[in-house]
Amino acid sequence: MSSTIAERKLPAQSGWQRELAASITDPRELIAALNLPAELLEPAQRAAQAFGLRVTRSFLARMRPGDVHDPLLRQVLPLGEELLEAPGFVSDPLEEAAARRAPQLLQKYAGRALLITTEACGVHCRYCFRREYPYSEAAQTAGAGGGRFRAALDAIAQDTGIEEVILSGGDPLSLGDARLAQLTDAITANRHVRRLRIHTRQPVVLPSRVDAGLLAWLRGIRVPVVVVLHVNHANEIDDEVRAACAAMRAAGATLLNQSVLLRGVNDDVGTLQELSCALFDAGVLPYYLHLPDRVKGTAHFDVEEARARTLLDALMGRLSGYLVPRLVREVPGAASKVPV
Ligand code: SF4
Repeated sequence: MSSTIAERKLPAQSGWQRELAASITDPRELIAALNLPAELLEPAQRAAQAFGLRVTRSFLARMRPGDVHDPLLRQVLPLGEELLEAPGFVSDPLEEAAARRAPQLLQKYAGRALLITTEACGVHCRYCFRREYPYSEAAQTAGAGGGRFRAALDAIAQDTGIEEVILSGGDPLSLGDARLAQLTDAITANRHVRRLRIHTRQPVVLPSRVDAGLLAWLRGIRVPVVVVLHVNHANEIDDEVRAACAAMRAAGATLLNQSVLLRGVNDDVGTLQELSCALFDAGVLPYYLHLPDRVKGTAHFDVEEARARTLLDALMGRLSGYLVPRLVREVPGAASKVPV
């Protein structure tokens, strides 16, 4: 059978791209799939208008049906609480607008620059500190198509003090392999760039993303690569995630994890202990435990500093030092993450 013109124009999709396209974005479908109470639907629909629901079927499969308190569900289910105003919770809590060096390029700390590669993610985390980030405005300033990163890449090329470039987003691994290779070839053509860091949740929420193409790209990068995963609960790590981590390590990447301390998800010592152990078993070093950034709509996730310190003290009493993440908060204008 011959294909139509429209079909012929579509680029071939990899398995992970098809899986991503099949993500759940309708609260009704999520609630039905997990057999959750119907009264969750109306507030979920209202909250999803402000920040859409998105979750992969792979991540969904790790949730417990019928459990409204499931720690993975809580990270993605829109709730009515998100629409409540809370003092101190604002659109840009980290004042990233002030850190903009060029369209799509932020510089907060010496020697490092962060490239906003895309607004796309495999899941929409309800606590996300960039849930209010003006992605489309930044993209428009930068220009469309292949020139979108030109000003950012020029800024990196001209500043020999930038030793490390961080690919962030959104989730940089939402981009296809060819686009990633174009970007990293341009970045690492600068001899002053010594390290590349990739912040991603894709290997966790969509482990099929770690396919032969991605691994070939990783292996081809001229400089050492650090992949920082964002795992908040041990239940996120299943056999597929462990296999994805092993493959990335075999491709030469160093794997670190940063978690966010989230009320109702991981704010107890046993959960944090199990998370560190599960990460290490998967070949990932627990690195940071962040206090949540105070972004509008996320007050219900907040954990008081004093309580966070108590949790960390308890964790230190249970684990070897290398399994205890550093408890930090990001403070706008500070020279580094601030230890709590
Ligand atoms: S994957 Fe990262 S950028 Fe995307 S919604 Fe989650 S926290 Fe935000």
